[in-house]
Amino acid sequence: MQILLVEDDASLAAGLKSALDREGFSANHVSSGREALTAAKTDRPDIIVLDLGLPDMDGLDVLAQLQKLDEPIPVLVLTARDSLDDKIIGLDRGADDYLAKPFDMQELAARLRVFERRLSTANTSTISIGDVELDTSAHSVIVSGAAVEFPRREYMLLKTLMESAGKVLTREALENRLYSWGEEVSSNALEVHIHHLRKKLPGNMIKTVRGIGYTVARP
Ligand code: CA
Repeated sequence: MQILLVEDDASLAAGLKSALDREGFSANHVSSGREALTAAKTDRPDIIVLDLGLPDMDGLDVLAQLQKLDEPIPVLVLTARDSLDDKIIGLDRGADDYLAKPFDMQELAARLRVFERRLSTANTSTISIGDVELDTSAHSVIVSGAAVEFPRREYMLLKTLMESAGKVLTREALENRLYSWGEEVSSNALEVHIHHLRKKLPGNMIKTVRGIGYTVARP
């Protein structure tokens, strides 16, 4: 599950990002409302953790604009403004969940896991496409009945593509993911990973969409 963290407090953001990494989540961080709206459109995160107190825009306006996307992204609102009013307004405007600062990291992780469970279709942790079965809780992949080892980045890339089966993922979105997984993204890093993945997967599973990106067909 890909998280977009919107938080202008740099030290809090850094702490949250490393805590999320430790919990096995992958998070991109931006520090303004404008960046958040851009990242929501280009990266297509699965969930946005949104601080309401931002320097350039009111967090509630950011929330309102996120609701106007073609496919709205779930939003968990963070606020230091510890008032019931903000909570009600936030939920009214389409926030899916709410945490008041200061909060416990374990609490945030628990809430995010609820979203993750909702995301995984039919409450199963296995995604099957053709002869490829990916188990997101065991982090294992079975290809044509045999277990195949994938290094972490390749596994994450495959998981991302399989979770979005039927959709085209742009190069930019995939490169941003690599970056969020702590990769130094050189100009051809994505091609190299895709090349390695293809060697281990059935022939035409990952398709190149010329000039745009890559896709895995829905079964
Ligand atoms: Ca803030």
